[in-house]
Amino acid sequence: MKCLIVGAGPVGALAALYGARRGWDVEVYELRSDLRDVSTTPLNFTKSINLALSERGINAMRQSQSQNLLDTVLSDTIPMYGRMIHGQDTAGQLTEQSQQYDVHGRFIRAVDRANLNKLLLDEVDALPNVKLHFQHRLTGADFKRRKAWFEQKSSRTPQTADAAQANQDQHDGRPKEIESDFDLILGCDGAHSSVRYHMMKYVRMDYEQSYIDTLWCEFTVPPASEGSGTTPSARDGFATSPNHLHIWPTGNNMFIAIPSVDKSFTCTLFAPSAEFATLEKDPDSVLPFFQANFPGAAELIGYNEVRKQFLQNPHLPLISIKCSPHTHSSTGVIIGDAAHAMVPFYGQGMNAGLEDVRILFQHLDANPSTSAGREAALASYNAERVPDAHTINDLALANYWEMHAGVRSPLYLLRKSVEEF
Ligand code: FAD
Repeated sequence: MKCLIVGAGPVGALAALYGARRGWDVEVYELRSDLRDVSTTPLNFTKSINLALSERGINAMRQSQSQNLLDTVLSDTIPMYGRMIHGQDTAGQLTEQSQQYDVHGRFIRAVDRANLNKLLLDEVDALPNVKLHFQHRLTGADFKRRKAWFEQKSSRTPQTADAAQANQDQHDGRPKEIESDFDLILGCDGAHSSVRYHMMKYVRMDYEQSYIDTLWCEFTVPPASEGSGTTPSARDGFATSPNHLHIWPTGNNMFIAIPSVDKSFTCTLFAPSAEFATLEKDPDSVLPFFQANFPGAAELIGYNEVRKQFLQNPHLPLISIKCSPHTHSSTGVIIGDAAHAMVPFYGQGMNAGLEDVRILFQHLDANPSTSAGREAALASYNAERVPDAHTINDLALANYWEMHAGVRSPLYLLRKSVEEF
């Protein structure tokens, strides 16, 4: 059984592990260079980007038949027991209000996305039946003849004239094209999936894509020891409580902060595109904007850093994708963002992608490992997963209101206290 996995993000890496554990020949093709190789990975890619990891994603790793993987991943996470809502009272004093996620004390975890991805790749790399190909871009796939084509980029910028000549000779100045056959191809290649694009030529796929009118930009709050401001809940070297997901809601915009194991916080500004355009036109207005909207946040980031980080870090869109089906016959499946990219407000994009892997293999395990068995498995996976993917997509959009406005509304607080009662 030969399986091609396109994309070595968290979902592709976990899928490779599941396939390899079943004795399959697994080949992973990834567009980018190996993020574990500091000599080929751009600095801005090694930087920590924190995500909320929940039971959905944890359970998928628990069932990967890799003994120490989960313990290693979890040992590098920080529990977040609730939200901390930051604001200001009528006297202008900064306020912090903790809202527990769960009456029984259950929590979600802050995880460094790159670190999680590296741990998964290390696990996969150690298996003899997996081949990892970095800097390979899928350019075509034939789902009937079961063939896929990849373009191999030259591995790195040549350091010498001889190395440049060798590169030239090897590739004749053009990227090298590679053909590979497969029994099953898994598209784990993210929101702009190439596997999905090619699959659409073979199945009548319904496809819906929308951008919400909100952009995001990343900021960093340094550890308390680095001299920027702190809040009353600061402790253990963190500038504010390490065990909360911090939210500065305004009704229109939102700023959030998630703790990192190095005691910093990875933060995200979400605001309408028109707001971003205004700030881009007049960067001097960035600090006053923060002070007016997110009380205390600029002190945490550092006054000089707010404008700098806004200009330095990219301003990115948020896409939401629904499609159906996610499968083709016995030969192709799309999972993760490739099948259901969602806005990040429910903290479930990656978690749902990891869960796709667990559920897909549940269906594959329940059927014979023949072409007909795989066709039945993919059909039943599709029937179970498409409605769930659409639902979590809708919930993610609905949670935007809750996070940026609802958490402040008296109605929300009333409902919450009734639920908890
Ligand atoms: P990706 O991570 O996009 O990986 C796809 C891989 O495929 C990439 O490595 C890419 O290089 C490769 N690739 C693409 N095209 C090709 C090609 N043609 N050939 C070969 N390789 C290719 N999720 C959570 O669960 N919790 C959170 O708290 C959370 N917060 C978020 C915050 C923000 C601001 C954003 C934007 C997202 C957030 N998410 C969160 C969502 C999460 O980041 C994604 O759902 C997750 O990264 C998807 O993983 P993936 O492996 O499916 O796709």
